[in-house]
Amino acid sequence: MEPLNMGMFALLSCLRQPASPSSGVPNLFPSLHKVHMLRDQPEFQALLLLHGRDRRIIGSETELGCLPDARKAIQAKIDLERDTIAATQTELRELETRSNFLGNEIATVEAKIAQQKTKQLAVKRNEEYQALEKEIANLQEKMSGHEDEQLEILVKIDDSRETMVLAEGKHAERAASLEHQLAELDEREKFLHDEITGLKEEIKDAYVEMDSVFLSGYERVKKVVRRPPYVVPVEDQKCSGCNLRVSNDVVSSILVEKKLTHCDQCGRIVYVER
Ligand SMILES: [Zn+2]
Repeated sequence: MEPLNMGMFALLSCLRQPASPSSGVPNLFPSLHKVHMLRDQPEFQALLLLHGRDRRIIGSETELGCLPDARKAIQAKIDLERDTIAATQTELRELETRSNFLGNEIATVEAKIAQQKTKQLAVKRNEEYQALEKEIANLQEKMSGHEDEQLEILVKIDDSRETMVLAEGKHAERAASLEHQLAELDEREKFLHDEITGLKEEIKDAYVEMDSVFLSGYERVKKVVRRPPYVVPVEDQKCSGCNLRVSNDVVSSILVEKKLTHCDQCGRIVYVER
């Protein structure tokens, strides 16, 4: 590729930064400086508008594509909050069940002790008396064990109730805020669908009035370039789509012939900003 000749370089500098008498940059093409640029032609303006709408559609479609994963992530967080609440409830229920069981056991053992004590009053033989005495001692030991455990459990139940109240407050609040986020995603989805529908309508209307050469050139770019942008400015003789240097022919086609021009590296439509 040949470097730009001095005249073209001066022209580019001049177009980027209009020369003033004090700038010291010689304006070699004063007449070109005043001509109507490709960028300002109504056909090109229409193309830029179409490009802008296409990009908005692509952006909205990309965002729509991300919504299912975003929803899934939020739903997983909601489930986690709910599971945490459920776990504290289960823990409390289990403790209460155990405490009730111990209460019943204590009552049963107590009754048995009373029964054996009554029996003891009636026995005549010392061995029988001693045997009952041992049995009563065993029952009392068992009851004392149950009572100790029940006391421990009652303390745990108090803690667990406190934890549950806190958990229900904190986790339920978080779950509610996450539910709100889900609702916002639903709204966003609706907005994006509406936006895409609206933009497609606008594009359809614009197609009718668009210059056919510009339109077919643009459609060609969309076929060869995978991702937008499809229409890009040239800066410092570089295509800002692919960042590669464009040939002097490309610059001349834009600035002198003022034709719809493609980057000779990536195929995007290129123009020069004022
Ligand atoms: Zn390019």
